[in-house]
Amino acid sequence: MIDSLRATLRAGTLAEELLKPGREVVLRSGDRKLDRDELRSNAEQVAGGLHGLGLRVGDRVALYAANSLDWVTAYLGIQRAGAVAVMMNPDYHAAEAEHILQDSEPAIVIADRTRAAIVEKLGVRPIGLEELPRSAKPPLPPLTPESPAAILYTSGTTGRPKGAVLDQGNFLAQGRGALDVWRWTSKDVLVHALPLFHLHGLGMGLHGTLLSGGSATLVPFTPAAVVSELTRDDSDRGTMFFGVPSMYQRLCDWLEANPSDLSHVRLFVCGSAPLPPALFARCEHLLGQPPVERYGITEGGIVVTNPYDGPRQAGRVGYAFPGVEVRLGDLDEVLLKGGQVFQGYWRNPQATVEAFTPDGFFRTGDVGEIAEDGTLAIRGRLKELIITGGFNVYPREVELVLEVHPAVQEVAVAGMPSDKWGEEVTAFVVPSTAAPLVESELIEFAHEHLAAYKCPKRVVIVEALPRNAMGKVQRSLLVK
Ligand code: AMP
Repeated sequence: MIDSLRATLRAGTLAEELLKPGREVVLRSGDRKLDRDELRSNAEQVAGGLHGLGLRVGDRVALYAANSLDWVTAYLGIQRAGAVAVMMNPDYHAAEAEHILQDSEPAIVIADRTRAAIVEKLGVRPIGLEELPRSAKPPLPPLTPESPAAILYTSGTTGRPKGAVLDQGNFLAQGRGALDVWRWTSKDVLVHALPLFHLHGLGMGLHGTLLSGGSATLVPFTPAAVVSELTRDDSDRGTMFFGVPSMYQRLCDWLEANPSDLSHVRLFVCGSAPLPPALFARCEHLLGQPPVERYGITEGGIVVTNPYDGPRQAGRVGYAFPGVEVRLGDLDEVLLKGGQVFQGYWRNPQATVEAFTPDGFFRTGDVGEIAEDGTLAIRGRLKELIITGGFNVYPREVELVLEVHPAVQEVAVAGMPSDKWGEEVTAFVVPSTAAPLVESELIEFAHEHLAAYKCPKRVVIVEALPRNAMGKVQRSLLVK
């Protein structure tokens, strides 16, 4: 049963499925709009242009640019050409870009003006995103659901980023799953402020929109821009917003100063990092509903979500998507199987073997807990485990307690090297304006709620937590 459901969700190829005739689809950005026919003919012409440069089916094309409609045109052109898109974070500096280009060896690099200069310094001549080559449409590429579609690099918070190879079926199962669990229809307008190079913005935001036949508006994230799109008085008014917790934090701060009625918005989705329960409650109050928190990982897909209709639980990520199995392995590691789970790492068979259990489940490296109602909660990452005086401490458990204290606006817990303890539980705190932060009081507060070995030995006050483009705290930068 589950195998046939997976096969159905994975069926087809992106070149055929994303821009099928008969769907409305409009993508907007500022004053520009592209409808489905324009998206399709652009993709066909760019595919022709790329073939004209000698690109063959299965070759890699790197895309190094900020979000824009041109980005989407280039990406769809790559898919229509039957090539494999190498997704590059536009925030990469030269050394990071060099690693990705050396590792993925693309036949062609497409870069916007800002990034072209970086690529040129690395000795590569890019094709300008703004001047994509165009030519007559080539035949549809002879691909199957198992053909690679893109390489997405892991965020590399520990060690160098690894390329996760996602196939056509992975993306189709991902997008179709999202339509199902979030009741996404052609009437929806997504306010899209997530990076397109990441699974959240690409596999959900872009592919979901194209598969649903709905619309999306690309905006650079600011609370004012998002609220403005969600409160327009025309048919382009947003019905959905997807974000990461740090975006919701800023949105709530802004809404407190600029109250706005968002009660007509159909859905808010949050993920990529834990949504603190206090922020969940603030969102419920200021947005008119709590966001649906979902969980995922580049290699395994975005595959667990709170229910659309049922109760949304703070601190829990919910139930598996259709066709997905979730279970806990050794040390309560979250294991995933499903049509969304990747094939393996690019040119790294050793890492690929280590990433799977003998019975084919992907090892996420996250620690979870499954409640009696079947919902999953994420307790932290195995690699973030702090071993202090021989005891194991998961930072998230400590953060959840400290986040409740009125003097704390945000907190990240990490292990600092210590002669006495091996690692010392340390809390990095961004103080709130509501109450003064006294180190001894915060430690005492922790002792009221946690076993002594889990409590911070030290509190370090910081102005802000270092976060990556997806709002994840970069703990390695804290413990430096
Ligand atoms: P990425 O591959 O960049 O999407 O990062 C995946 C990682 O983000 C997961 O392995 C989790 O550690 C974390 N993550 C994603 N969603 C959530 C969530 N809702 N709660 C807690 N952690 C999350």
